[in-house]
Amino acid sequence: MCMATEIESLTMNQGVLYIVSTPIGNLEDTTLRAVRILKEVDIIAAEDTRKAQILLKKYSIKKPLTSYFEHNERTKTPSIINKLKSGANIALVSEAGTPSISDPGYRLVSEAIGQSIPVIPVPGACAAVAALSVSGLPVHRFVFEGFLPPKSGKRKNFLKKISGEDSTLIFYESPYRICATIKEMIRELGNRKAMLARELTKLHEESIYGSLSEILEKLEHRKIKGEITLIVEGKKE
Ligand code: SAM
Repeated sequence: MCMATEIESLTMNQGVLYIVSTPIGNLEDTTLRAVRILKEVDIIAAEDTRKAQILLKKYSIKKPLTSYFEHNERTKTPSIINKLKSGANIALVSEAGTPSISDPGYRLVSEAIGQSIPVIPVPGACAAVAALSVSGLPVHRFVFEGFLPPKSGKRKNFLKKISGEDSTLIFYESPYRICATIKEMIRELGNRKAMLARELTKLHEESIYGSLSEILEKLEHRKIKGEITLIVEGKKE
């Protein structure tokens, strides 16, 4: 078993960057290791410091927090890298789930690797993987597409581009756009099998299975709220 303290002794006074996954809803999905690492690091860089405080409070963790989000990523990366170089151990957490997955992190991770700073994942919840695991669609090959472009023209072109992909497809989508997106998918990809996961791990968790048009029918006449991951079957021969 590799403990943080062993890693630290290997780094010759450089710090370690931990990429720590946090729950996508249910706080009980915090791993024991995530709690330990968050207790041991010197600084926690958080996409949303208020949300991070809720988690830290639950586990009685008191650590300096610094914000690291989409709009300060570029300017904040050098100062975090400098702190790592001077020996601070830093954990990056996003608003929910795994940092870097449709969340800030990639820039910091690639910069740290470029500077030979050790980067250690502390795995845990990720909406894409959670939804895929209960989708009932083939999981031996899948493609994570994340959020589609918000503008309709670009979205349509993007869907056209991926229409030949035969792996299972994973999308993140907002509740406001989900019906329009499913309609576009039916046009561009065909009426494929799919699964819509809403509010996974939360009070109003819901999984809807069926063809894209059957899912659309179930959504169209109601107010859709919450966070959605959509899994769509790949192209069939
Ligand atoms: N980093 C996160 C992860 O590891 O899943 C994803 C962050 S991304 C900004 C947020 C999107 O993930 C939401 O808009 C939704 O599409 C999806 N998502 C997050 N939590 C979810 C949940 N509890 N149930 C279903 N989808 C979820």
